[in-house]
Amino acid sequence: MLAWGADANRHAPELQTHSRTGERIDQVTFHPSWHALLALLRSQQLQALPFAEPRAGAWMARTAGYFLQAQVESGSLCPTTMTFASIPVLRKETALFADLAPRLYAKDHDARDLPWREKTAIMIGMGMTEKQGGSDVRANTTVARPAHGEGRGAECLLTGHKWFFSAPMCDAHLVVARMGAEDGPLSCFFVPRFRDDGSKNSIQIQRLKDKLGNRSNSSSEVEFRETSGILIGEEGRGIPTIIEMATSTRLDCVIGSAAILRAAYVQALHHTRHRSAFGRLLADQPLMRNVLADLALESEAATLLMMELSHAFEHADTDPLAAAWKRVVTPAAKFWVCKRTIEATGEAMEVWGGNGYVEEARWPASIAKRPSIRSGKAPATSCAWTCCARSSARPMTRRACCRTCRAAPPRIRPCARNWLRCRRCCANPRNNSRPTPGASRRGSC
Ligand SMILES: Cc1cc2nc3c(=O)[nH]c(=O)nc-3n(C[C@H](O)[C@H](O)[C@H](O)COP(=O)(O)OP(=O)(O)OC[C@H]3O[C@@H](n4cnc5c(N)ncnc54)[C@H](O)[C@@H]3O)c2cc1C
Repeated sequence: MLAWGADANRHAPELQTHSRTGERIDQVTFHPSWHALLALLRSQQLQALPFAEPRAGAWMARTAGYFLQAQVESGSLCPTTMTFASIPVLRKETALFADLAPRLYAKDHDARDLPWREKTAIMIGMGMTEKQGGSDVRANTTVARPAHGEGRGAECLLTGHKWFFSAPMCDAHLVVARMGAEDGPLSCFFVPRFRDDGSKNSIQIQRLKDKLGNRSNSSSEVEFRETSGILIGEEGRGIPTIIEMATSTRLDCVIGSAAILRAAYVQALHHTRHRSAFGRLLADQPLMRNVLADLALESEAATLLMMELSHAFEHADTDPLAAAWKRVVTPAAKFWVCKRTIEATGEAMEVWGGNGYVEEARWPASIAKRPSIRSGKAPATSCAWTCCARSSARPMTRRACCRTCRAAPPRIRPCARNWLRCRRCCANPRNNSRPTPGASRRGSC
């Protein structure tokens, strides 16, 4: 597996925009190791496990598998994560999802460049970021013009561009565009690589990004020219729709970074147990022991946070407190673990001495590949945190939450109907009606 990872990064993907005879084909070709890595990820269903087999512990099992894979190679996690994160959004589109589900849940990797309905397994990406802004999705200018039908499920034609469009060989992307005009409401679209008639959809790949960090995964710049897309979610609710996808990608940023932290710690430990300096193994030198202890703490703390977060994702649908925890802690955990990963991999690089500074040592790439910029860099993640904390915590305060008896926050509990109330009110059947509007309802971001 390590050799696959090394090969997939040494032999970067290549873009071919046109065929021999001049037709646009927009194909990206990869080293066979890339496909071997994706096949391995799929065989463990890391792109769908808790949705495909929703049983107790499924989120944890998926987290553990992802955590292991991320210690080997990170690029292949990008399309895996995006596919995973698209499922909660797509399954709200009942008719479309009936056809998508078996292909999203499939345990094989189907690399063929064919319309998604002709494939056994598919992958999904996301397209939000444009040249003029990524954190601020409201700056999007891509326009969608209605073609067939109206409302949810209608076919529209998209014209515009995306400046970061990772894994363009995905079978479809969820794309944000403005409905009707450049100042129209932002909406979200399912944009497949091929149209329903089997012809190639007009997603023109301009070039692949020359990125820092992992080179195995392709990130592209694309233009849409009357590109067919299906409206998903409510018209004008494009940001909440795509943010639901982005929230799940943030969980994977935490797992991926915790994995890099662990790899850094384990490799530092191994190196110091075999390298001598000044008459002793490095691992026995008092100052080095401090460094190793710090790395161990960082790694364990990140791993614990990752597991707690996965637990919250698993229980968010049934436990309002887990839902609140998920909302508030996800951006904070992403901010913190990604930041600490930079520090820890830098430390591990130093532990390896001069050998840590060559590309073969993995550290230069590890420092660059920690997924902090994806799904919002630090300040933007902080804004997301503030927004979630404000909306989730507000109902917990005495005045806003339980006006009936003015209970103190520690006694506030979610009641059976998902309203936050104090225990005394919950226990009293007369108080089991809807609380004062706007006063007690759990906030939403
Ligand atoms: C490897 C990689 C792959 C990617 N793949 C995709 C993809 O597949 N699809 C996709 O849509 N995008 C993708 N992106 C783009 C990514 O989502 C954006 O780069 C990210 O959202 C930041 O947007 P931006 O680059 O426009 O920076 P900006 O939005 O211009 O932000 C610049 C800086 O300002 C900060 N900032 C923003 N708002 C505020 C504020 N209110 N207050 C204070 N500071 C603020 C940001 O945190 C950041 O530090 C990818 C990026 C990378 C690096």
